Amino acid sequence: MALIFATNNQHKVEEIQALLPAAIAVVTLKDAGIDIDIPEPHPTLEENAREKSTTIYRMTGSDCFSEDTGLEVYSLNGEPGVKSARYAGEGKEFSKNTEKLLAKLGDSADRKARFRTVISLIFKGKEYQFEGICEGSITAAPRGNNGFGYDPVFIPEGSNHTFGEMSLPEKQAFSHRRKATDKLVAFLRQELEKYN
Ligand code: IMP
Repeated sequence: MALIFATNNQHKVEEIQALLPAAIAVVTLKDAGIDIDIPEPHPTLEENAREKSTTIYRMTGSDCFSEDTGLEVYSLNGEPGVKSARYAGEGKEFSKNTEKLLAKLGDSADRKARFRTVISLIFKGKEYQFEGICEGSITAAPRGNNGFGYDPVFIPEGSNHTFGEMSLPEKQAFSHRRKATDKLVAFLRQELEKYN
């Protein structure tokens, strides 16, 4: 089974590819010869994920999936949330987004946050969604250079380390994206069994 992954984010490709069984081949947009920046105009992760998968489905007619992820900080009413990529502007710069988040939180004692991922799969022409959540908190300053985005300022519940200080397998043990991908894989395994 081959699925196009509707993203231009190589970090996401690496994280999800590492979790998929050999029977499910991921085709990146680059591999599929598609060079577009898919818009994310909607107010929810669910709608943006659907926008991305349906855009690619319309272009290719192939089974495909996308994911949209947001960092939701409780004391900031869920910010940056759906705006996580462009929090500090259209440049989508990870370091600027992180600086803005830390400045907004200041020395606030309530630093609880969560990552939420929504995967939208278009399979045989029908859409399915899978959610993964990772609860945690925001550090006072960035720690570690691994991963991407807000990883250096996010500590998942159950660890003392930021995602930025973890190897990929360590991050996967906690990750929102891994939890959503597990649900995607369980669904696809069931479907594969039906047709085998
Ligand atoms: P989008 O899902 O492509 O809209 O990305 C949202 C933004 O959230 C990304 O640009 C990153 O800044 C951030 N982000 C998404 N997933 C992660 C993650 O696993 N760790 C850290 N930051 C992330």
